[in-house]
Amino acid sequence: MKVLVPVKRVVDYNVKVRVKSDGSGADLAGVKMSMNPFDEIAVEEAVRLKEKGVATEVVAVSCGVGACQETLRTALALGADRAILVETDAELQPLTVAKILKALVEKEAPGLVILGKQAIDDDCNQTGQMLAALADLPQATFASKVEVLEGKAKVTREVDGGLETVEVLLPAVVTTDLRLNEPRYVTLPNIMKAKKKPMETVKPADLGVDVTPRIKTLKVSEPPKRGAGVKVPDVATLVDKLKNEAKVI
Ligand code: AMP
Repeated sequence: MKVLVPVKRVVDYNVKVRVKSDGSGADLAGVKMSMNPFDEIAVEEAVRLKEKGVATEVVAVSCGVGACQETLRTALALGADRAILVETDAELQPLTVAKILKALVEKEAPGLVILGKQAIDDDCNQTGQMLAALADLPQATFASKVEVLEGKAKVTREVDGGLETVEVLLPAVVTTDLRLNEPRYVTLPNIMKAKKKPMETVKPADLGVDVTPRIKTLKVSEPPKRGAGVKVPDVATLVDKLKNEAKVI
């Protein structure tokens, strides 16, 4: 069984993102970029399936600018077998990525597509669900455990107040939650090995996908700055402030 793993290049989760002065978006100049953390979990899960002998090939795919090659090399160093870069300078929105992935699902015929549940830059949480709808595949989102059985996957999902276990017929789309696994560290020998693994580059047009954005960002703004704290002399003053100033009790 082939596993397709879409990986997105995003601002590193340790970076404090700043908004551009004209409010048109986040300032990405000189900012460290990394693989979306949920996608690292997805790659790890796919590689573990291969190590268990369930998956036969792990194919990583990234859509975006040429620098997404670095993200794909990381996926290869984590254990993916080959990579596909769908190269474009256009701003990609979840529906466009889902259309690209649908075209790749048709071309590659994977038994499983494992994506992150959300990208930490846009926080959309849409691509996996849109892909499942477009490709007419069953979906199991927010997975905290994945077991592949004969022609099926049993997926445990974290829902409010507990766990839900669902079974989907393969091929299917699964999106990863934070507790699914702990991704391994990339080692130097594996980085070296990754350099020799195959990476193919295609354009969205080769897959018949129009990348024109459908959504326009009107404004991006910083959250309001937190005011300085105050010290209160006693509990009575604290309760009074909470009641009459903050109005939270
Ligand atoms: P989102 O719907 O934007 O929150 O993204 C959810 C997931 O879709 C991510 O964790 C990735 O697995 C995948 N994805 C989104 N955008 C891209 C992209 N440009 N290239 C590859 N995968 C992507």
